[in-house]
Amino acid sequence: MHLSEILNHLGETREHYFQAVSPPVIQSSNFAYRSLDEFRQAFADELRHHLYTRGNNPTVHILRQKLAALEKAEDCLVFGSGMAAISAAVLANVSAGSHVVCVQSPYSWMKSLLMHYLPRFGVEHSFADGRSVASIEQAIRPNTSLIYLESPNSLTFELQDLAACAELARSRGITTCVDNSYCSPVFQNPIELGIDLVVHSGTKYINGHSDVVLGVLCGSSAMVKKIFDAEYMTLGGILSPHDAALAIRGLRTLELRMQRSDSSAMAIARYLEGHPKVEKVLHPLLPSFPQYELAQRQMRGAGGLFSFYLKADRIEQAEVFIEQLQHFLLAVSWGGHESLILPSAAFYKIPGRPDSTQPWNLVRLYIGLEDAQWLISALDKALEAV
Ligand SMILES: *Cc1c(COP(=O)(O)O)cnc(C)c1O
Repeated sequence: MHLSEILNHLGETREHYFQAVSPPVIQSSNFAYRSLDEFRQAFADELRHHLYTRGNNPTVHILRQKLAALEKAEDCLVFGSGMAAISAAVLANVSAGSHVVCVQSPYSWMKSLLMHYLPRFGVEHSFADGRSVASIEQAIRPNTSLIYLESPNSLTFELQDLAACAELARSRGITTCVDNSYCSPVFQNPIELGIDLVVHSGTKYINGHSDVVLGVLCGSSAMVKKIFDAEYMTLGGILSPHDAALAIRGLRTLELRMQRSDSSAMAIARYLEGHPKVEKVLHPLLPSFPQYELAQRQMRGAGGLFSFYLKADRIEQAEVFIEQLQHFLLAVSWGGHESLILPSAAFYKIPGRPDSTQPWNLVRLYIGLEDAQWLISALDKALEAV
């Protein structure tokens, strides 16, 4: 199906709501039935009927259909946060005594789920260098039930060869799950490469306006049904109808926003790569990136997120750059309209906490929808001050 069809029309049965162009927010917790027979049918298959909004809601359902089609998946569930989606995907594929192979630097709270939470339930894990399929293979044990990938990750952008990982996992009967937040469905579709489950922090590009926290989980109908009946309904981490409507609005411009952030970020990364006060730029689609060839083969674009190392001897020089930089908001997260800076120096000198293991001169930038030249002139001034 054409991307334009998905973003503008799919799932929108306008004859159900006065031919309204923009779908209504069905802000109702439950739904009434006209006959006992229909009521019974709804109980028989809650995933496909509107019974209660913790299960299914018409506004949320429109969003689910669009996201499934975007990821070329059979079905999709949405959650109240990316972590709720990730936790559901992981919990659905482990039980006491099983083992998870995970890439070395996944999203921080995913790491916490494996290291601090799941051991309470007898679930073990190993971290493997995802840049090499062999190292993932070496980490597999007889009780491995899930391989968890994130390609690229959101700070240093290591990739995994998704098709090769999927093939390896399939030959061992292991489920694969990929966090695809970095590329968004516009630039990468892991299910096409043989991956079983795709998760997103929809908080980032999918909603795209820094006003909703949202999680996405895409997979086969059977896997989605299994997760619906267990993690989704029992843990209850749903998205509200109002937030679903905001995300549907966000999707209208997903392709445009991705293209804009992608081309601006590329121009800014190239500018920084040529700057004497920059030691190195990390951007998967720059030829200097160690996995450039794989990135070119596997991704259709990179979006707005990349990092660089300042050329500096003392943390105070990085602090000057950060404090002087205009137009970029000092903030976590990414994927909205606004450009952001997340310097590793922010994870130094935190009262009561050890310093980060990342070097203090590593700076992550997110390039939003502003004019690239306007952002470059701000970077130019701040680098001048270093
Ligand atoms: C933000 C983020 C998450 C977590 O998503 P939330 O919506 O904040 O729960 C997961 N993975 C990646 C790569 C992220 O950037």
